[in-house]
Amino acid sequence: MAPQEQFPPQQQEPPGLTGAMDPTPDHGEQSYRGTGRLAGRRALITGGDSGIGRATAIAFAREGADVAIGYLDVEQPDAEETARLVREAGRTACLLPGDLTDEAFARGIAQQAADGLGGLDVLVNNAGYQMARGTSIDTLDSAEMDRVIRTNLYALLWVTQGALAHLPSGGVIINVSSIQAYEPSGKLVDYASTKAAINNITVNLAAELGPRGIRVNAVAPGPIWTPLQPATQEAEHLPEFGTNVPLGRAGQPAEVAPALVFLASDGDASYVSGTVLGVTGGRPVF
Ligand code: NAD
Ligand code: MG
Repeated sequence: MAPQEQFPPQQQEPPGLTGAMDPTPDHGEQSYRGTGRLAGRRALITGGDSGIGRATAIAFAREGADVAIGYLDVEQPDAEETARLVREAGRTACLLPGDLTDEAFARGIAQQAADGLGGLDVLVNNAGYQMARGTSIDTLDSAEMDRVIRTNLYALLWVTQGALAHLPSGGVIINVSSIQAYEPSGKLVDYASTKAAINNITVNLAAELGPRGIRVNAVAPGPIWTPLQPATQEAEHLPEFGTNVPLGRAGQPAEVAPALVFLASDGDASYVSGTVLGVTGGRPVF
């Protein structure tokens, strides 16, 4: 991929929308070619409206999977665009708006996905929230910590609990971690801690669910150009976003999705469980 020109300073309210981003992210709309690696699989992708989730939805659909996506009500335009792309690939798209920090909704979303798709084989725990703050721990406030931890950890566990009533032997769970689990930034201390915890949960679940024939892995992205960034980082820091990795640029959502396809595919990753696959532009994930 060509080197990234600098991102212009820009700001959105969380969760942010794709249409307001400059430049528009690349979700693989023009580039992703499927080869039937997920034929007939039924996947739930939380936060599948935009960013890494949208790129994953496109790739999964082009690999032959039907896709349900979770998202917040305010993201309806992004969700409809992802659904359009899934349907354009000839697959079923199921839209599941709602707030995953609501325990009842989070516990029930897998049932809704299974109802909409006729079953569930793959869960991608991709929804996440962060907010950049001052570098001092003094700048943490309880309401923000609650939002980060409920979204990234409680909701992930609730959604997973709900999904386990549906996932068969051969089922797959993929959690979305982060480079922040390995190289935590001071201004993301609460978020980074949830991503380290997600790595641990991935190991725990792989151990528990292996005997049921369910593989559990995580992907750890580095800096990726998604709505999360203009919605949660200071506008003036966006021009340098991603320039501190060995490859010298931010990644695009389209560059993360193939890692999720690999982990979801039984043809490719049948003996891969309990691991974290870094897609970081060169930063270490060990
Ligand atoms: P994104 O904003 O496109 O996706 C995050 C999604 O999370 C949103 O679209 C939203 O639908 C969902 N979400 C957030 N709070 C929710 C709630 N309360 N209820 C329901 N849904 C909710 O951004 P993204 O960067 O594609 O993020 C996807 C995942 O990737 C997140 O877990 C994020 O932490 C992780 N990640 C992103 C980066 C990056 O640089 N963009 C790096 C490492 C990890
Ligand atoms: Mg979104």
